[in-house]
Amino acid sequence: MSIRHHIGDDTLMAYVNGTLADSLSVVVATHLAICPKCRESEELMEEMAGLFLMETDTSTLSATETAMADAIPGSTLQEDISEKQSRRMHDYSNTGVPMPLAERMPATLDDIPWRTLIPGISHYPLPRTGSEKKKGTLRLLKIAPGKTMPEHSHSGQELTLILRGSYIDDLGRFQSGDIADLDSDVHHQPVADTAEDCICLIATDAPLKFSGFFSRLLQPVFGI
Ligand SMILES: [Zn+2]
Repeated sequence: MSIRHHIGDDTLMAYVNGTLADSLSVVVATHLAICPKCRESEELMEEMAGLFLMETDTSTLSATETAMADAIPGSTLQEDISEKQSRRMHDYSNTGVPMPLAERMPATLDDIPWRTLIPGISHYPLPRTGSEKKKGTLRLLKIAPGKTMPEHSHSGQELTLILRGSYIDDLGRFQSGDIADLDSDVHHQPVADTAEDCICLIATDAPLKFSGFFSRLLQPVFGI
């Protein structure tokens, strides 16, 4: 798998800091499981965070900061990272997708009980827990070969990970393993390539905003 589109630095930093919305974190974790380049960046960010805490003069820290520094000693951080790596690499389930996603899949990619949105486009909302329910969405989306997604923009951030097939939009071609990391400035209209269905994992931290003909039809489905 040759991955060309990666997680944005800001998004990865938010993931490492634990401030990224849970729905978006699922997509980031799934991409990390298959992308050595982003794993390298993640490790670097985690090391930097650990070093920062170790080198900070603790006498100047507030009680909360001291507690946080104590909670992440450098040696333990390293162990956590390698433990996490081995779990990611070896814990694929029989659903054929990496573990962060596999544990939420109702079936393999071939047996998802898709729900049709409009002809050629179907989806499957993934189960979420706890704080994830507060805002945003997490779903699988299937676009038939050659089909165009309705044009839309975002009121927040949207992360799309291609699981199978490919699509093209203004930003280029996105193939299996690629991640599209889009913020609210982007207005786009992906078109699935003609060879096979394009199946994606999509998360948002706020409802999508559709424009044009399909807006009234799709807004209640994609929004919350
Ligand atoms: Zn990557």
